[in-house]
Amino acid sequence: MCGVFGIYGHPEAANLSYLGLHALQHRGQESAGIVSVGPDGMHAQRKMGLVQSGFTTSVLDQLPGAMAIGHVRYSTAGTSSLRNAQPFAVDYQHGSLAVAHNGNLTNHHALRTQLELRGSIFQTGSDTEVIVHLIAIGAQPKIEDRIVEALRQVEGAYSVVLMDKERIFAARDPRGFRPLCIGILPSDDSEDSKPAYVVSSEPSSFELIGAKLLRDVEPGEVVIIDERGISSLKPFASVERKMCLFEYVYFARPDAVLDGSEVYSARKISGARLIEEHPVAGATAENTVVVPVPDSGLPAAVGLANHAGLPFEMGLIRSHYVGRTFIEPQQSIRHFGVKLKLNPNAAALRGKRVIVVDDSIVRGTTSRKLVGMLRGAGAKEVHVRISSPPTAWPCYYGIDTPNRSELIAASHDVAGIAAYLRADSLGYLSVTGLIESVRLGRRELGSLPNWTDGGFCQACFSGEYPVQVPDPEQVVPLRLING
Ligand code: SF4
Repeated sequence: MCGVFGIYGHPEAANLSYLGLHALQHRGQESAGIVSVGPDGMHAQRKMGLVQSGFTTSVLDQLPGAMAIGHVRYSTAGTSSLRNAQPFAVDYQHGSLAVAHNGNLTNHHALRTQLELRGSIFQTGSDTEVIVHLIAIGAQPKIEDRIVEALRQVEGAYSVVLMDKERIFAARDPRGFRPLCIGILPSDDSEDSKPAYVVSSEPSSFELIGAKLLRDVEPGEVVIIDERGISSLKPFASVERKMCLFEYVYFARPDAVLDGSEVYSARKISGARLIEEHPVAGATAENTVVVPVPDSGLPAAVGLANHAGLPFEMGLIRSHYVGRTFIEPQQSIRHFGVKLKLNPNAAALRGKRVIVVDDSIVRGTTSRKLVGMLRGAGAKEVHVRISSPPTAWPCYYGIDTPNRSELIAASHDVAGIAAYLRADSLGYLSVTGLIESVRLGRRELGSLPNWTDGGFCQACFSGEYPVQVPDPEQVVPLRLING
């Protein structure tokens, strides 16, 4: 999972990109990069770590111009290095090009082999570089045609922002696995002022810089932003929409609106639906508390508590000075992380039945520790409720889930997982319940006629992969370097 950002037509393009990336920081914390177009060409700065630690004022001062694209990266196993930090910026026969990508290309190995056989030399281990090479060897005179031709050849998930010296392109794969949206930054009052346009993985970054969400980039759409404003191509054959369901469960910020559905509303509704599907017998406002696993379990816990008429308590206190454990790349840190990150709050737990709400269970190790921590702080019973279905299959579309053999739901049924967790009960939201929650999250916003009802990717729950992947039963998952 990564975050991409782009801005066209603002004199402070790099500074606003910094802010935009800051608002997307939850999508990737390993490296950050900004490429701008100044009067003398492209300028690139890429840094390891968080946006705010790498991009000081002096670094931003080296990024002149009114156009920029940016990227925050979360890599897969063991390949966290500056060499693979994005955006990539290259000079080739047709000029300069910069690329920032969120997603995974499922056929990148085959494409890379073909390109290498015809002489291409790769500088990184990233699947994104395949897109750059395919554009570079394109024969069409127009850049937009070369981009379309390149994207026709790649498969899998991409929300990609590209930039040459005159324009920015934003494209989303035909299934729309990953989000991408367009916003506008109104012009100031001066006579020759024009609005600036922005693109981002999530609209949360627009709020911070004073931009307004215009719309989502549609699956299969290539948006071109240049001095004439916004234009659009729909060059790909239409296929069923397969937006990632997990974006609504965990990845996106709760204040995001993705493909017309409010993430916060969807998460709250999923909590209500969860307790309908899996009530806790005998739970009353006197004997029971609903406790979220912060932060990702918070909205679902609010929805669950409201719907069930049970008190909501902060029974787990989060330290804000450690990263999200799920996306830490190193096993040692991940296991240690839960203790660093969460502490039980005995004042809220003592003598109570606790319904603890989390977004997902991956290996089960973190949840098992949490159950133990809650009991240790005085909880009489611990009932675990999960606002998504069991995660039993790896993701090949841009998320670093572990091997199938490491996913507890791949080898245990719900009763077996409850026993492993040492929970009094365990309930997962159904796939139907989750999809309905996302659709109801959309309804909260009123009518959105452009949003056609389509499917969602649910492969990590069902094993039904919308785009062909390596044999998902393989022990070794696709460990590619992604955007
Ligand atoms: S497999 Fe799961 S995490 Fe990956 S895109 Fe599909 S729904 Fe999202």
